[in-house]
Amino acid sequence: MNNHNFATSDFPARILGWYDRHARILPWRKPAGETADAYHVWLSEIMLQQTTVATVGPYYRKFLQNWPTVQHLASAPLDDVLSAWAGLGYYARARNLHKCANAVCEKFGGDFPSTEVELLTLPGVGAYTAAAVAAIAFQQPAVVLDGNIERIVSRVFRFQGELPKGREALRELAGRLSPKDRPGDYAQALMDIGATVCTPKKPDCAECPVSIHCAAEAEGDAENYPRKAPKKVKPTRKAVIFWIEDQKGDVLMRRREESGLLGGMMEFPSTNWDDKPVANEELNDLMIRLGLPPGLARISGYPIVKHTFTHFHLQLSPVVIRLPDTIRVTSNEAKWTRPLDFNRIALPTLMKKVADTVLASQQLLPI
Ligand code: SF4
Repeated sequence: MNNHNFATSDFPARILGWYDRHARILPWRKPAGETADAYHVWLSEIMLQQTTVATVGPYYRKFLQNWPTVQHLASAPLDDVLSAWAGLGYYARARNLHKCANAVCEKFGGDFPSTEVELLTLPGVGAYTAAAVAAIAFQQPAVVLDGNIERIVSRVFRFQGELPKGREALRELAGRLSPKDRPGDYAQALMDIGATVCTPKKPDCAECPVSIHCAAEAEGDAENYPRKAPKKVKPTRKAVIFWIEDQKGDVLMRRREESGLLGGMMEFPSTNWDDKPVANEELNDLMIRLGLPPGLARISGYPIVKHTFTHFHLQLSPVVIRLPDTIRVTSNEAKWTRPLDFNRIALPTLMKKVADTVLASQQLLPI
């Protein structure tokens, strides 16, 4: 552990000096020294969770074009927000984004609150986002700790705790380094240094402004930090997914429950995503739930659609049913959708993969 006295060191000044020279130009950024708009900071930070800067750029611009202020976003229909979000993944974030915009308008008169404590009361705003918005948009001396910053701090101190368990201890260490001046620039500087200099593999310590303060650089073992608890092996879940087409070529879809994975998004109906093989009764139960008579011809043999979520792998086996004109679907859940309209609805990436697989295979398999 590094016992260096950071309170009196030039650590923050070195970080800020580096930022003045090397800050990345990003669509949601203001130049060094200027304060960014809280709506812009919040929107970008929510989008950047689990997603790269390169992917977020076009989405961020599209959102600002559609909804230039938090008031515009709050009054947008949720479906429009979900559709604009499609492809960014983790759709709970999009639903919380909409909820949060409404909360800002209803509870705070349309202005984001400036303190971490108040920001934390907003839907979808966790410790990291609250600290980032407070620091970057309101110049509050908040301790911002994302993956990049964790890496730098754990290397500077050769922090022996394993993440995520040791995160609070690491936050305390990060707090020792944080300056009172320019907290927003300081946080963004660390994000940039983590992304471009103190990278997970082969950090460029020769270019690092704080190498003289870094214990891991002195020991030559930077890549060993941060120490992480061993990853659990992800289970693989399986299900059958139905592509039910009527004579016009419209496809049966339904909306997922609001809470949970892909909450509120449209999907093709499937059996439960389970570790066990799919039983025949389960297929029949699903048919009954959809208001379809048993015994309809099912065409299988389509390629399996594979997808990975944070906690598990998923394998979906598509089964196609083409309904004769004589059959009416009675379920209220069913929403008939033209494949041409898939781009306009909130269709998660997984369901796009299913649609692409079935549509691409239709030439090969009889339908
Ligand atoms: Fe990271 Fe190297 Fe800088 Fe230490 S000296 S913070 S390991 S880039």
